[in-house]
Amino acid sequence: MPPELYNPGTALALFDDMPKTRSLEKYRRKRKFDVTSEPRGGRRQRRKGEPIFVVQKHQASRLHYDFRLEIGGVLRSWAVPKGPSTNPKEKRLAVEVEDHPLEYAEFEGVIPADEYGAGTVQVWDRGTYRSMMKNRHGQRVPLEKAPRTDNLEFWLEGKKLRGGYALIHSKMRGRKENWLLIKLKDDAADARRNPVNTETKSVLTGRTLKQIAREESG
Ligand code: MN
Repeated sequence: MPPELYNPGTALALFDDMPKTRSLEKYRRKRKFDVTSEPRGGRRQRRKGEPIFVVQKHQASRLHYDFRLEIGGVLRSWAVPKGPSTNPKEKRLAVEVEDHPLEYAEFEGVIPADEYGAGTVQVWDRGTYRSMMKNRHGQRVPLEKAPRTDNLEFWLEGKKLRGGYALIHSKMRGRKENWLLIKLKDDAADARRNPVNTETKSVLTGRTLKQIAREESG
């Protein structure tokens, strides 16, 4: 059973003072929007309803999966070299990268050669999530209001990924951007599934990475 929802009314009220730590400045500094078709994005957004997540398969100089969660009006982002697992025994390295605008969840296409992140991007999975974090009164709170910032737990409702996941700030090898993405033990955990290898099409357009590269470049 999915965890109970945090009260959306409460969440919206709490959202009124968005954390100042999240920013799109770095995202914009790295990109030339007259060259790349990636979205510039508007201001940090306050949205109603459940927050979103997206996993984008990104064939850059190295293939990786960008795991993004809507937090504080932006998509907080981690690059996961091996992609997410459905097996709780698999810990996947997740390297935190710059926050992306919410509009990025719609982006599928080719980033031109020589530009930052040059290569093909596919919307590998997308959906909503629910925070599993509680405050000291035992009430569910959005991730941006979680008292612990080094261990985020959330419930995904995607097309390929479902159930509880944790992002744990491991600082492995002394690097502060290093986290681990781990499937929590619940009904959606499945050691035999391997969606990264078996479910390779876009949930947005049904295309493979190769098809996107062919249709969107030039
Ligand atoms: Mn990437």
